[in-house]
Amino acid sequence: MSVTVVKFGGTSMADAKSINQVADIVKQDKKRRYVVVSAPGKRFSQDHKITDMLYACYHDLQINGECKATFDKIRERFKGIVSDLELDIDIDAYLNHVESDMLKYNSAEFCASRGEYLSAIITAAKLGYKFIDAKDIMVFNENGDFEPEITNEKVKQVLSKVERAVIPGFYGGDESGLVHTFSRGGSDVSGAVIARAVGATMYENWTDVNGFMTADPRIVSNPKPIEKLSYKELRELAYMGANVLHPESIFPVRVGNIPINIRNTFCPEAKGTMIVPELEEKDMNNRVITGIAGKKGYSIVYIEKSMMNSELGFVRKVLAVLEYYNISFEHLPTGIDTMSIVIADSELAGKEEVVIERIKKVVNPDHIEIKSNISLVATVGHGMSYKPGTASTLCGALAKENINIRMIDQGSSEMNIIVGISTSDYEKAINAIYNAFQK
Ligand code: ASP
Repeated sequence: MSVTVVKFGGTSMADAKSINQVADIVKQDKKRRYVVVSAPGKRFSQDHKITDMLYACYHDLQINGECKATFDKIRERFKGIVSDLELDIDIDAYLNHVESDMLKYNSAEFCASRGEYLSAIITAAKLGYKFIDAKDIMVFNENGDFEPEITNEKVKQVLSKVERAVIPGFYGGDESGLVHTFSRGGSDVSGAVIARAVGATMYENWTDVNGFMTADPRIVSNPKPIEKLSYKELRELAYMGANVLHPESIFPVRVGNIPINIRNTFCPEAKGTMIVPELEEKDMNNRVITGIAGKKGYSIVYIEKSMMNSELGFVRKVLAVLEYYNISFEHLPTGIDTMSIVIADSELAGKEEVVIERIKKVVNPDHIEIKSNISLVATVGHGMSYKPGTASTLCGALAKENINIRMIDQGSSEMNIIVGISTSDYEKAINAIYNAFQK
């Protein structure tokens, strides 16, 4: 029988009502054999995610040597869920264990992982599926790096003997039994890893929206949903801030060409977005761009020097300075006598002066400056490489709104044009590009 791996995000796990909905969805299709869950998220906008509360527990532990007050709130949430679901599990015993283990291990990663752990125990009881602890199948090394190949073998081996299981997302364990986590939102990655290992024909990622939208609905009113996306388009959009899915989820499923279907737990009849290995020609003919995404918080290190392009090793010397100061950059468009290095503010913060001084020393530029308050907007779509005039439509739309392009970079794949603009123009720019391509 073909297998579908399903992953449910924090909002889907937030309370008994949504967990009942999750159970209905799982039970509707026999192929949904492996279920990966997040920790309970927010029930309403002012609410707290369990994972955030667990990080707060760790913080309390470091300062006061205990975290009782914060943990009691977590205790209350889980007890409420179990009693509303009328489950016959001794949740107090689990919670007591978790509380004492948090003191014992005293690690941020261990604390943060307990939301998924408890969430999976509850979901397994609700569904009557086996609980498999992610610590035993998702393998990390002692430095906290994920080991994809060892994990793949391990998951294959363990799950081949289990017909139906619930597995906590977000974390795994190393050889000595210590817990490590992925980055925030990492349950998406866990689901993808499981999908690859069990040879799933589909990875369903259930969240609280009807899939990817052509643009951020907080910026553009009523953007169109995206029915189909390629893996590559997803990478570009997710990396550039369309945060429906963790950008690293694509790597495991890519190995097995497994499609990802983004679905809405609260609107299961919607088809959502299908993310496929490659688009067909007809999908691309139907549209020029697939989506627009963007991020604030960048600076550009702008360097000018006559004949830069013929000076051997110029770029290498400049980049060596960044490497020396442990700064990674995002984009590097160059001209004959100019180059712009786009860097996230979080990377550059506090190092601006030393970087400028050092670059001056090693390449002796005619002019160097840092342009700050930059935002990046990415316009993504395979269709762009087929259609002449895309860049001109995009630039024209920005010009019409009087938005100055401070940097422009067309990715080598010709499916992505990134512009750097002043952050004050950010929302205006996204709307201008969106409208220009809606015809
Ligand atoms: N609970 C974790 C977080 O809030 C992981 C996840 O939900 O994917 O980041």
